[in-house]
Amino acid sequence: MKGAILSASDSESIRLAGKLIRTGGLVAFPTETVYGLGCDAMNADAAAKVFEAKQRPQFDPLIVHIADLKQLDVVVGSLPTLGQRLMDAFWPGPLTLVLPKQPAIPDLITAGLSTVAVRMPNHPVAQALIREAGTPIAAPSANPFGYVSPTTAQHVADGLGYNVDLILDGGPCPVGVESTIVSLAGPQPELLRPGSITIEQLSTVIGAIRRASSVNQKPIAPGQLSRHYATQTQLRILASVGARPVLKDNERAGLLIYSQARDSDNRFAALEVLSRTGDLREAARHLFAALRRLDSLGLDRIYVEPCKEEGLGVAIMDRLRRCATP
Ligand code: AMP
Ligand code: MG
Repeated sequence: MKGAILSASDSESIRLAGKLIRTGGLVAFPTETVYGLGCDAMNADAAAKVFEAKQRPQFDPLIVHIADLKQLDVVVGSLPTLGQRLMDAFWPGPLTLVLPKQPAIPDLITAGLSTVAVRMPNHPVAQALIREAGTPIAAPSANPFGYVSPTTAQHVADGLGYNVDLILDGGPCPVGVESTIVSLAGPQPELLRPGSITIEQLSTVIGAIRRASSVNQKPIAPGQLSRHYATQTQLRILASVGARPVLKDNERAGLLIYSQARDSDNRFAALEVLSRTGDLREAARHLFAALRRLDSLGLDRIYVEPCKEEGLGVAIMDRLRRCATP
């Protein structure tokens, strides 16, 4: 039974999953961003199992997911005006806010910090599960620490398998990259991790926002670790859009690009086109599955075309750079 994949469209699966969460178990579930590995956010023992299953270092805090605003008071100590505005604009949705925490949230969840990361996901399965469990659900991405995040139930089974009590299958994640994280715990709002809610969108609601540097003295988001979201196969980002590498003799290389391939691209052992029309939303949705497919082929190297660093392109390039860091 452990590690079983059940269809989330069956209400019996949601009931079972909710019960597993309430009794300290681990349930992997879809959100609009990536699949999460969920546990009761108020239960330190359950949280310990999440860290163990992912082999996640304990300095790395989890995001707490809520289904409605009543649950916010259970998690968050106080809400600044800017937080209220961001919630009004982007919740439910792929935006995580770092705010002062309630004492009842276990230290393990927040890595001993006085703040907590909280998000209201916009995915019917995530919402149904949190409601059924009757408690906020702490959930990091459902993959071994440091690897590419999962965007299908099968990705979760491949990476975590029997370390999960149940995997709810709700199909591929519609966004495909992790949430945007904004900290409101300091004197000024700070972007800790770019995501599908873009800097431009944030700025229209709260004005200028500072971007935390990735070489932070002490990373408080693993999104800030220089190597993360990484494939086993070495990955190299090409110099410009349309650039192609010179391959060594016998080099078995993969190529990942955003739009139309060229005839000459058949010299690569494997090719992934993220969007025929060059649409960045479609590219983000397909990115992690494409990286995983390339990574499974035992290639010598994966070459990736860069995309324009605008809008969602900022999040895509952020993930690719961390993946490319040796
Ligand atoms: P993951 O769900 O694996 O993508 O990781 C959750 C992200 O939220 C990580 O980057 C965490 O470090 C970040 N996070 C969670 N809690 C906090 C917090 N209190 N302060 C800053 N970042 C946090
Ligand atoms: Mg993660």
